[in-house]
Amino acid sequence: MKVTIRVDVTMDYGETESFEICQLERPYRELDPARIGLSLAEGKDVLHWLQRIVVAAQAEEVCLLRRFCDRCHRFLDLKDRRIRKVDTVFGTVRFRSARVISCACVPPFHFEGPYGPMSEYVPERATPELLALQAKLSARTPYRQVVQTLREFLPVSDTLNHVTVRNRALRAAARIDGDELTASDDARPDARWTLAIDGGFVRGRRNSECSSFEVLTGRLTAKGHPPRAFASVRRELPDAVDRLAQLVRSITNSEHPKLSVITDGANGLQTIADQLPFTPKSVLDWFHISMRVRYLEQIAKGLRATSEPENAAKHKLTARIGKLRWCFWHGNAAKAASRMREILTICRSVVPQTPQAADSLAQLGYRVRELVAYVKANGGSTINYGKLYREGEPISTAMAESAVNQILNKRMCKRQQMRWSPRGAQLLAQVRCAVINGDLDERLEMIRQRPKPLSLEVAVFLDKFRRASESLPQGF
Ligand SMILES: [Zn+2]
Repeated sequence: MKVTIRVDVTMDYGETESFEICQLERPYRELDPARIGLSLAEGKDVLHWLQRIVVAAQAEEVCLLRRFCDRCHRFLDLKDRRIRKVDTVFGTVRFRSARVISCACVPPFHFEGPYGPMSEYVPERATPELLALQAKLSARTPYRQVVQTLREFLPVSDTLNHVTVRNRALRAAARIDGDELTASDDARPDARWTLAIDGGFVRGRRNSECSSFEVLTGRLTAKGHPPRAFASVRRELPDAVDRLAQLVRSITNSEHPKLSVITDGANGLQTIADQLPFTPKSVLDWFHISMRVRYLEQIAKGLRATSEPENAAKHKLTARIGKLRWCFWHGNAAKAASRMREILTICRSVVPQTPQAADSLAQLGYRVRELVAYVKANGGSTINYGKLYREGEPISTAMAESAVNQILNKRMCKRQQMRWSPRGAQLLAQVRCAVINGDLDERLEMIRQRPKPLSLEVAVFLDKFRRASESLPQGF
């Protein structure tokens, strides 16, 4: 059997041209399982050739149709034709891009200069789809692996390397990073939002001023809304707070949303919540409180009582600690403080008979004082967890911790053997967040379609030009 793949291209002006891409031979006598259907290599070849034909035909059509002046319908002269290259998902394609000499009837009048109509459609060396694809893959795997994966499945050019992929991924990331989120319309005005924040450390570059730096990540969520991941390098703190505030405003579509901020109370994450320009309700992560109470329970359980007073103390301690958990769960901070004071008093008043009991009591006292300091440092953040839990609201930073896992640990953890500059980490984290939120393509497309702001020189020139044309006498 012989298969011929042929393409017919019909231009908008009616002309049709046929191209033969390739011939596949499958003689019956040589047929074996490996020669059933198209192989990956053949498929890549076919796609590459098809892409070459389509892009060349498009360039041809654009250059021909744009040679007619829109105003006076004159057929314009060509300055020259140049060979241009563009990287697409189906390989690097060369095409002939004609430069047309602009008509004298178009402003600025009497100025005939060459311009390439295709530059409007191919403004960069890579198509937007390829840019988004490389950014998306870079957010998941190291740059060198991205090149290998692309090479495996797509007819990419032989010159593609990890440096190009990195530059493109960071370029896409810089666009997302510099773009303000547009306010979402589907946010319910009465929704109760929860912002869970956590931090993770990333290894800094050898030559940079810090050996590691912290990246704040987390999720913003509400009932009936998909959670939204975010990340920001903490070194630029005022900026990080501004970004967070802007994210909250755009997602909740409100200047004063009903917001609770859950943190684990470590590393002064609370200060970030305080700096937000809203009046959020601070919530201390239940898991961290519960774990600390669990320590106390374990120490009390392990206390080896050898005498009657020690035994009585052990029972009292176990009962008080059980009640302490209950106080925290129901948000009764005053009662919890009094329970902790009682535990400390019992620890001090018992005279231990054995060194082991003395050790356990000292350790228990230390842990209780630590818990007192922890609750005090995060004053007012212990709430009625039970009520919130029954209402189906989040009470732990689990979703922030999973964000740390997803955003930082997959791509920037120590196992990856990579060191990062704060800026590089910030940019890649933005792409990762967009991939997790599932809106990378959408955001890149929105940025691409937005009109570019004019450079200052061009704006000044156009302003002068407009004023000069206004001062001309009527009918000129
Ligand atoms: Zn004209």
